[in-house]
Amino acid sequence: MMSKSKTSKLYSEVYAEAQAAFDKYKPCQIEIDENGKASCFASRASDEGYRTSDPSSGELCCIGCKYLGKNGCKVKCLGCKLYLCSRISADHPIRIILAKLRQKAGMGMSHIRKSKKESIKFLLEWREVGGGW
Ligand code: SF4
Ligand code: SF4
Repeated sequence: MMSKSKTSKLYSEVYAEAQAAFDKYKPCQIEIDENGKASCFASRASDEGYRTSDPSSGELCCIGCKYLGKNGCKVKCLGCKLYLCSRISADHPIRIILAKLRQKAGMGMSHIRKSKKESIKFLLEWREVGGGW
């Protein structure tokens, strides 16, 4: 069973690898307009744009999160970092990298909207009940 410190190390390692992949491919193409409003590939492709919180509209997927700050995400959430919405094409090269990283981290998509501290706690508890890690 992996210790808390090894879990933490793996978490940071996978997060950094995922971040490097996002930096390289920039699949979300996030832009800030002159009014400071953020948009992404999905929100710009949606007729509804910013006007609704319905995720199917293509609104940025961080909407409503308590960790979303003026300059973006305020925490290092690995679950979120390994996520991509369905607007990004299924054969985008980053998908293969993220799938491998999810496998390396041994985690599914359910660990979203958590700080690293919360995620580690969640993962350790999850492991206790046989959920991996
Ligand atoms: S995953 Fe989709 S909705 Fe979220 S920021 Fe990227 S393009 Fe936008
Ligand atoms: S925790 Fe996830 S949903 Fe919340 S701001 Fe950060 S990346 Fe977005």
